[in-house]
Parts: sequence; structure tokens; C-alpha cells
Amino acid sequence: MDVHARLQSVWTDIIATHKPGTIELMGSILSQVVGFIFPASIYMLIGTLFPTFSQRHKIQSAGRQPTRQQIQHCIKISLFNHVWIIALQFSLLYLWGFYHAILNMDPIVPPLGTFVVDFVFGLLAREISFYYVHRALHHPSIYVYIHKMHHKYITPVSFAAEYAHPVEHLFANVLPVTLPLYLKGAHFLSIMIFGVFELWEAAADHSGYDFLKLPPAELHDLHHEKFRVNYGTIGLMDWIHGTDVVGWGRVKAKKARTAE
Ligand SMILES: [Zn+2]
Ligand SMILES: [Zn+2]
Repeated sequence: MDVHARLQSVWTDIIATHKPGTIELMGSILSQVVGFIFPASIYMLIGTLFPTFSQRHKIQSAGRQPTRQQIQHCIKISLFNHVWIIALQFSLLYLWGFYHAILNMDPIVPPLGTFVVDFVFGLLAREISFYYVHRALHHPSIYVYIHKMHHKYITPVSFAAEYAHPVEHLFANVLPVTLPLYLKGAHFLSIMIFGVFELWEAAADHSGYDFLKLPPAELHDLHHEKFRVNYGTIGLMDWIHGTDVVGWGRVKAKKARTAE
């Protein structure tokens, strides 16, 4: 049996035996555990289990790493953000009724090519939406109230990805990943796969380690260290806007050229 036929058979079993709302809630919990909590915990354990490897691959120096207390606080807030998002989803499904689902629960699994198209679409839509939301969060009149919290960790660790004000968590972390694919009418399974990838990417981007080149953690790590650089996730929007250089060198150089 090929991959698509096997997936179709598992999906047919799931939708025949569970309510759509229950599948949606369980899928959301599972994707957050598999995509974020599990890999983020592994990244955190590297320092304890393999100290030499960890020191060799940490992007920022040992002296800049957060204390044990700061890490515990970071994990607590990050897990709280996961819990309230699940509680919000549960409440919506409770009001709507578990016989309904918010996402597309088509009994026919889309062709594998559709998963690839959805993935590329999701990646670009997330890059564009996250970039502008993130830049807006850096506006001086908003920054201190919301985004300053996420920047508490100048030397990030994996769980710091979700260490954020609830408003930021919803508008910068959750919606740019889920809303574009929801509006596109993507299948529930496609959104789950993309969600797991994006959650892992967020943990990897904040891990503080350089051994994974895809995604390149150095980009977002530098954002935490220098603030005015690398607002996006894959580098595309930063390249377009010239914010891929510390101090916005390209933007400044262009302005200087125009003034001449
Ligand atoms: Zn920022
Ligand atoms: Zn960050």
C-alpha cells in the first residue's frame, strides 16, 4: 500500500470513530506536544547530557546563557501559552458543538501534491504575515507593552520561542501559521503537518544552537541579540526590506544615496 492509501485508510478510521471537534482538539494538542514540547525539551537536555557538544555549538558565549531560574520561568510561561490556546480552542468547539469542526475535515485525503502546495503557501504566507506583525510589535508605542517580554531572553533557549505576551502569542505565533491555510481551505491534516513543522522551527530558531542549518537558528538568535535585524523567519522579507543586515545597513546606504 502506498503512503497516500495508508494515510487515507487511517483517516477513514479516525473520522468514522470520533467527532470532528474531538479530532480537531486532539490534533491540536498532539501537534503542540510533538512539534514543540518534545523537541524543545530535547534542545534543553543537550546542555546537561552532552556539555562539550553543547558548548561547541552554542551560538552565544557561555557567560551570556540564562540562569536555571530564568529557564524555569521561561518554560512555565511557554507552557501556559500552550494551555490557554488549547482552552480557547476547547471553548470555541464546546460552544459550536463537537459535531462541527472549525477546519476542513474532508473524508477524502487530498493528493500528496496538495500537501506540498499547502506547505509552500503556508511558508510564504507565514513569512509575510509574521514579518509585518513582528515589525509592528517593534514600534516604540507598542514594544514596551507587548513584545519587550519576548525579548527578555537576549540569549534564547528553545522554550523562549513561546515566551510571549498573550496578545503576541495569538497574533504573531498562532495566527500567521494557521489562518492563511484555514482561509485557503486546506485540509486538517495539511494544517497539522505544517503546524508541527513551524512549531519545531520556532523551537530550533530559539534553541541557541548552530548545528541545524535548516532553519538557520543564527538568523533569529541575532534578532534577540541585536533587535534591529532579521524580523522574518526564512530571510525572504528581510532581504526585500533590507533588514537582513544589523543596523539596517542596506536601508541606510540607500537613503544616503538618495539624499546625495
Ligand atoms: Zn522582536
Ligand atoms: Zn524570538
